[in-house]
Amino acid sequence: MNADQHEIQKFSDLAHRWWDPTSEFRPLHDINPLRLEWINARALLTGRKVIDIGCGGGILAESMARKGADVTGIDLSDKALKVADLHSLESGVAMRYELISAEDMAEREAGRYDVVTCMEMLEHVPDPASIVRAAAKLVKPGGRVFFSTLNRNPKSYLFAVIGAEYLLRMLPKGTHDYAKFITPAELSQFVRQAGLQLDAMKGLGYNPLTKLYSLNDDTDVNYMVACTRPL
Ligand code: SAH
Repeated sequence: MNADQHEIQKFSDLAHRWWDPTSEFRPLHDINPLRLEWINARALLTGRKVIDIGCGGGILAESMARKGADVTGIDLSDKALKVADLHSLESGVAMRYELISAEDMAEREAGRYDVVTCMEMLEHVPDPASIVRAAAKLVKPGGRVFFSTLNRNPKSYLFAVIGAEYLLRMLPKGTHDYAKFITPAELSQFVRQAGLQLDAMKGLGYNPLTKLYSLNDDTDVNYMVACTRPL
């Protein structure tokens, strides 16, 4: 299977803190409004059938459902999915969560989704191109696919590993493995090889002084891409 058990375990061990906005998951909480609006502006989520690959505790998945989408979240961490499920029950947002790989889901539910999202997950997987192919298979022709990940260069090493894990201690040490980061050129190639068309790319910047994130055109560290499956 295209999964690193050590990576999954790291997320399972922290899963009980997923919805605590001051926890290790704070960056995901902080970036969520920005990525949600970026996705919604391109995919008009209301009434769409959406699948979120590597949904974890459901921060993005649940927020898309609140926009009126019919959301399925999949992940390989049982604990993260349990937390996601409990949270949706508490907040009264109807969700479907399932422990299944992206590749298996793509076999079972090919072409059933209007929108596929896969955020902050590719850099934790042995074969990210296989996840991109699964996403391309899950989406309907004409549908949209979104990815986000970490770029690989000296600046991203400094910000995402040294800065976030060691200096600012925003993330536990060992959260990110620099060697697995993915450059925009590599992700663009995965996307094209999967038969998707790349529509847009956006950087997610963090200002350590104001502690605020913003969307910009600097894709040096964290970035998102929007794609379409051609008709
Ligand atoms: N996408 C969510 C969570 C990101 S954390 C968000 O952005 O808010 C990364 C998630 O990827 C974790 O929940 C982890 O369990 C999951 N993950 C890691 N490897 C995976 C794999 N091979 N298949 C499915 N999920 C995986």
